[in-house]
Amino acid sequence: MHEFSVIQMAKKQETDAELANKVINLCQRRGIIVQSCEIYGSHAGFFDYGPLGAQLKRNLENNWWNTFVTGREDVVGVDGAIVSPRALWKASGHLDSFNDPLVECKKCGLRSRADHLVEDELKINVDGLSTAHLQELVHEHKLKCPKCKGELLPIRTFNLMFKTHVGATADEATEVYLRPETAQLIFANYKLVQFVSRKQLPFGIAQIGKAFRNEIAPRNFVFRCREFSQMEIEYFIHPAKLDDCPLLSADLLDTKMVLFTQENQEKKTEPKKISLRDALDKKIIGTRWHAYWLAASHEWLVSLGLNALKLRLRQHTKDELSHYSSETWDVEYEYPWGWKELMGIANRTDFDLKQHSKASGKDLSYHDQATNEKVVPFVIEPSLGVDRLLFTLLMDAYCEKGEGGEAKTLLSLSPKVAPVFVSVFPLMKKDGLAEKARDLFQELKQAGFAAEYDEGGSIGRRYARADEAGTPFAITVDYDSLKDDTVTLRERDSGKQERIGLKDVACALHKKL
Ligand code: ATP
Repeated sequence: MHEFSVIQMAKKQETDAELANKVINLCQRRGIIVQSCEIYGSHAGFFDYGPLGAQLKRNLENNWWNTFVTGREDVVGVDGAIVSPRALWKASGHLDSFNDPLVECKKCGLRSRADHLVEDELKINVDGLSTAHLQELVHEHKLKCPKCKGELLPIRTFNLMFKTHVGATADEATEVYLRPETAQLIFANYKLVQFVSRKQLPFGIAQIGKAFRNEIAPRNFVFRCREFSQMEIEYFIHPAKLDDCPLLSADLLDTKMVLFTQENQEKKTEPKKISLRDALDKKIIGTRWHAYWLAASHEWLVSLGLNALKLRLRQHTKDELSHYSSETWDVEYEYPWGWKELMGIANRTDFDLKQHSKASGKDLSYHDQATNEKVVPFVIEPSLGVDRLLFTLLMDAYCEKGEGGEAKTLLSLSPKVAPVFVSVFPLMKKDGLAEKARDLFQELKQAGFAAEYDEGGSIGRRYARADEAGTPFAITVDYDSLKDDTVTLRERDSGKQERIGLKDVACALHKKL
């Protein structure tokens, strides 16, 4: 069991709502994430990241990019524009189908997301239910407006895209949209990227960037916001070779994950832990490439320190599948507000490339040199929200040490992503300790460590400040350091301290990474 799970087990039993509130408080107190443009008061669903949050976000993005783009030979990266023309979103189906169910109060006009309203009022999980089914539940349980108890109008659909116009004329020709997903810019550039990178199938195109959704009711802090970042890969595969996956090693096939299948959901049975091999043999997972991306995504999430016991894979029900998908699995996390999607891994088939070929008149097929035939690749898409992941990691890492008023907050973030890797403290500001500590701090900075120098307040307070920011290591320069050039290296999670030579600090920290 790795050290982060030990800390999690030692966590005080929080009620779930308390945990979320404590993490949100911590984010606000330390300026990790705050409501955007607070001095004026902004609309709900927009957030700004302060120094710790911005660095944490960047570390997550870098880790993902290093793992899935620069660390591989079959994936390349792109960076597309945020604003794109109507034609793109018409072809992709988003103009017609990127909707959420909206329910409005006849009396006070309050607009709510119908599935959220049903979920909140009936305390049931409604993931996978169709709009017709939601409407039935509203009728059957005589649900009323949560604010004024007024009657509810029939559920209708609400398109989530932000629309604007380019230039001074507002007509259909100048109509543009803020992208609601990064994926479409990958499809639009697919042919060019394949040509310039000279990639042969199978290969992937990855992108990290902003996405915008005019959510009816943003909630749960950055879990559901209106402006957020996504990390997405579109992985292109020969349509006849979806089961030809050389990357699916024996080890991965033996990986066991908790699967909540369509059948489980229909028959209301419990999810089961099952190996990928069994899931493929029993045709629970449709194709080997899909199985590979489920395993690779799960493995990466756990490598960041996420508690695997709080992760499961839920298959979308037939009613729930997006217009482009033949099969989708969500990696769900057990949030304080229930099991919800952390990321989605969809088989988008050849839908997008075919749609864009048809609408643009450009040939987006792939020339298979081996058979000299033209094919339109199928696509497996692992798609993940950076903000949602970041908040999930914070909740997963949050713990308190000590009792009552003495309790100290600690973020047990993995050293791989912690915004500050090491803090350097002089025991006192005087007697040359500060100078020696500053020299070490500069040296560590130059060696590439995300280091921080802190000389304010008692040493206990400085440790507490660093623990709360999730800083995994702290080094203290004290009076012995002046005599024998040694310092104290303290580990955040265990509180263990060891004495090491000043010249060995960088090497010791490298080993900790
Ligand atoms: P949900 O069911 O929670 O609305 P979704 O199925 O619409 O999510 P996708 O379209 O699959 O989400 O988007 C891929 C990923 O982008 C999600 O798994 C999530 O991590 C992130 N994401 C989607 N919508 C939001 C949002 N409003 N705020 C923050 N992150 C989001």
